[in-house]
Amino acid sequence: MTVLILGGTGEARALAAALDETGVPILSSLAGRVQRPRLPVGPTRIGGFGGPDGLAAFLSEQAIHAVVDATHPFAKRISASAAQACGAAGVPLLRLERPGWAAGEGDRWTWVDDLPGAARAVAASGAQRVFLTSGRQGLAAFAGLASPWFLIRCVDPPDVPLPAHHELLLDRGPYTEPDEGKILDRQRIDLLVTKDSGGPLTAAKLAAARDRGIPVVVVRRPSRPDVATVATVAESVSWLRGQDDPIDAGRS
Ligand code: NAP
Repeated sequence: MTVLILGGTGEARALAAALDETGVPILSSLAGRVQRPRLPVGPTRIGGFGGPDGLAAFLSEQAIHAVVDATHPFAKRISASAAQACGAAGVPLLRLERPGWAAGEGDRWTWVDDLPGAARAVAASGAQRVFLTSGRQGLAAFAGLASPWFLIRCVDPPDVPLPAHHELLLDRGPYTEPDEGKILDRQRIDLLVTKDSGGPLTAAKLAAARDRGIPVVVVRRPSRPDVATVATVAESVSWLRGQDDPIDAGRS
């Protein structure tokens, strides 16, 4: 009667905490991408399952009652794997996904489909000093750009080719608007690049860019499998209550 939480996000940790409090047996799963992951409360396993077949086998071996895919909006492969594995194993699956960001008044955003598209938008912009906050994975898309200087922020050092002119800033959110503003000012940033990660933890850079009239290249979220989806931890708990009631089972 265990709920498997596919994690790596703040929402996944919040859900683990909420379910743990009710006494529901949970197991959180992390990919193992960062050197020092923020761990959720409760039991955690780390590492891939070996694709959809491996995950389906894991679900039956561990008697998983329901799965909540609370992975990052850009973690496309694990979500596809979860949809396929849960379908094959007959295990209910919920997607917990924070809403994306929306441009407000004063924002100068250019939407692109992927990181190569972001690299093309950077080249076309004529920007000189780019703040690249799209994460460690996919940085190779910018490696061929010779002319702008990049401030590249990520959690762990990248292990892919990087653009010729860059400085690395190893850091992890949450970030505040005054601090983000200081980076933009001190580094004389004239273009910001971000994925549409959504959520409040990394949104301060957008407000700081808006205040300064700095344009932003925003990478659209990838397409997702068609599964039941909610935006909040509370909705996830409600959904789980309706699934043959693992929450009451946890209480008894
Ligand atoms: P991905 O491309 O969708 O996944 C690649 C492979 O990593 C999956 O096929 C799976 O391996 C394994 N995997 C991913 N998430 C897992 C999880 N929670 N538990 C166990 N295995 C997992 O994912 P990604 O973009 O590399 O992201 C990896 C993790 O970092 C995700 O869990 C995500 O929540 C977190 N994260 C990602 C981003 C981002 O921008 N992509 C940002 C912040 C946090 P198998 O096929 O072997 O099962």
